[in-house]
Amino acid sequence: MEDLKIPLKKYFGFNKFKGDQENIIKSILEGKDTFVIMPTGGGKSLTYQLPALLQEGTAIIISPLIALMKNQVDALRGFLTDDSVAHYLNSSLSRGDARKVKEDLVNGVTKILFVAPESLNKQENVDFFKSLTISFVAVDEAHCISEWGHDFRPEYRRIREMIKQIDASIPIMALTATATPKVQMDIQKNLGMTDASVFKASFNRPNLYYEVLPKIHPEKQIIKYIKENPGKSGIIYCLSRKKVEEVAETLQVNGVSALPYHAGMEASRRAKYQDMFLMEDVDVIVATIAFGMGIDKPDVRFVMHYDIPKSLEGYYQETGRAGRDGGEGRCIAYYDYKDIEKLEKFMAGKPVAEQEVGKQLLHEVVAYAETAMSRRKFLLHYFGEEWDETTAGKDELDDNLVNPKEHVEAGKELAHMFQIIFDLKQQFKTKQIIEVLVGKESPTVKANRLHMNPHFGSGKDHNEKYWMAAVRQSFVNNYIGKRIEEYGTLFLTEKGLEFMKKPGSFNLILDHDYDELMKGGNNVVQKGGSAGDPVLYDMLKDLRKEIGHAKNLPPFVIFQDPSLQDMATQYPITMEELQNIVGVGQGKARKFGGEFLALIENYVNENEIERPQDVVVKTVANKSASKIGIIQGIDKKIPLRDLARTRSMTDDEFITELENIVASGTKVNIDYYIDDVLDEDYQEEIVEYFMEAETDSVEDALAELGEDDYTLEEIRLMRIKFMSTYAL
Ligand code: ADP
Ligand code: MG
Repeated sequence: MEDLKIPLKKYFGFNKFKGDQENIIKSILEGKDTFVIMPTGGGKSLTYQLPALLQEGTAIIISPLIALMKNQVDALRGFLTDDSVAHYLNSSLSRGDARKVKEDLVNGVTKILFVAPESLNKQENVDFFKSLTISFVAVDEAHCISEWGHDFRPEYRRIREMIKQIDASIPIMALTATATPKVQMDIQKNLGMTDASVFKASFNRPNLYYEVLPKIHPEKQIIKYIKENPGKSGIIYCLSRKKVEEVAETLQVNGVSALPYHAGMEASRRAKYQDMFLMEDVDVIVATIAFGMGIDKPDVRFVMHYDIPKSLEGYYQETGRAGRDGGEGRCIAYYDYKDIEKLEKFMAGKPVAEQEVGKQLLHEVVAYAETAMSRRKFLLHYFGEEWDETTAGKDELDDNLVNPKEHVEAGKELAHMFQIIFDLKQQFKTKQIIEVLVGKESPTVKANRLHMNPHFGSGKDHNEKYWMAAVRQSFVNNYIGKRIEEYGTLFLTEKGLEFMKKPGSFNLILDHDYDELMKGGNNVVQKGGSAGDPVLYDMLKDLRKEIGHAKNLPPFVIFQDPSLQDMATQYPITMEELQNIVGVGQGKARKFGGEFLALIENYVNENEIERPQDVVVKTVANKSASKIGIIQGIDKKIPLRDLARTRSMTDDEFITELENIVASGTKVNIDYYIDDVLDEDYQEEIVEYFMEAETDSVEDALAELGEDDYTLEEIRLMRIKFMSTYAL
């Protein structure tokens, strides 16, 4: 056999093979069925491209996505001098283009042809391929064959049949980046290649750090992480398109360079955002799993799962996009058991067999999220690879290796819980079982008279969190099951019944108490809440009074109390931070902020105050579509009643919405309306009142100005005008 390095250099410009590439290529050149399991980025494509170029005839490469085919052909053509050498055949081609492809195939110039499984399923194509010389067939992303994989495609199931029709003796190659032993078996059986030479690379990605965090204020955690890691590229995966849009918007509002990506977006916009990410015009892509297949950005520094994924195969594939260059790659998944329940509920409408598969895959995800063993060990074990954490490289870490979780013996407790499930006739869900254990009289408990049950309160020694962990881990370990069709009533399995009768030992893994850790970081400031620093609060109030006097404005026009309270909690010292304070928009920050910032900075320095490092997350709520529509309508001077009516709002609701808009810092000019309904003299009188008033209360204003002359509505509208004029 000739030295394969020569064509490697000639066609691709590489000097040496990566991993097992050379042996794989030899295997296919020898005409053997060949199975390649290699992590993403390992260099699988080259293992079919090079032998295809070297052999007589055409290699057919089956690939699941049209976009992926196009990328591959473009990339290949970059290496090759003649475009006819690589083609793809799928539904996106025009008739003329398809004809040209077929011509090249007939003339024998095309060495590599990418085909979608759907196209292969067409009889006319099969008949056409029969007339050609086919060197081999490669099935890329072969995990799509197995319903136990994360990306099952029924069309993939028919590939073997089509190949048989073309020529039963063609060597078959299968390639995938994820395959549990079960999926691997499925693929080999289905493609009829149980005797194939199998090349399985290690799946370990030593430079990736795995971490699971409880999903408490996830946006805040994410923004904080990104702000602490400025300029780094990252991908954030969400399960729904809606969530993608929301999270991307929240990040943008908070000054993060982020864009959304999902299959519901127009193709041109998607392509544009993907390019921007590759070209580093944007740092972060918030995406559904539609993003990433075939994306080869070497320096993605973090991959986050805002929502827990549906399977570990998917998770591993997605996290695999981090740190391809061998550099830093942080993989953070946010976990909340409620998300698992949601996913289970979505499955309820599907065929039973599919549900079973989906449930099993989810169980593995739960087990991963809750495990106290090394996450790397868990993942590699899942993919059929043993890894010993005691010989781990010093970078091969994960959160559980860094912070081991607490374990407790809970055999007795579990047996007791099983007894309750049993005695309650296996008719209740997790929530009620826990309520019975801790003695909580919820409406459902009372409706079912469970508070009269002798077991009620019998597990009070432990809290709900403990019992929740006990239920989940009993579930993961198959002591109990859930009847999904009954929305999750718990029942005991054989194993659970046995354990109930003869309790053994059970190592319950206690969750980290992240709740406690995060309490200090909760920056959602409630209106009417109190200031964190009363001394500073008083100083700020004094300053407000001073400025009010100087400018001849009442204090509430400068900043309202909740804003000062928030300042005395967050200690903002820059204009940007000030704009994150409740009720402070850009205009207000500029107009009145300077002196307040100076005072706070001075105070912080003199008292050596440690400012909360936590970011305050601005929500997109005050920028909602409805509000934007109202603001635009007012700019166009559309009658207020019409604006209210098209939104099915009452006058009162509409004015409240206007008050909210103004309170969150946006000016509105409603003179065109007020001038119509209120004489100038009356208007002036209200303005004069507010100029002198101590508070901005409209009730006080009405009492002072007299109900005979004014309505509450008029005063509210005038206050909106007043605040827009003087406060913003
Ligand atoms: P996979 O399909 O396994 O995810 P690809 O085939 O897309 O991986 O290859 C990943 C990257 O590795 C590509 O940028 C490719 O050009 C590069 N690559 C492949 N083989 C070699 C090699 N022998 N030397 C250097 N780079 C290689
Ligand atoms: Mg590939």
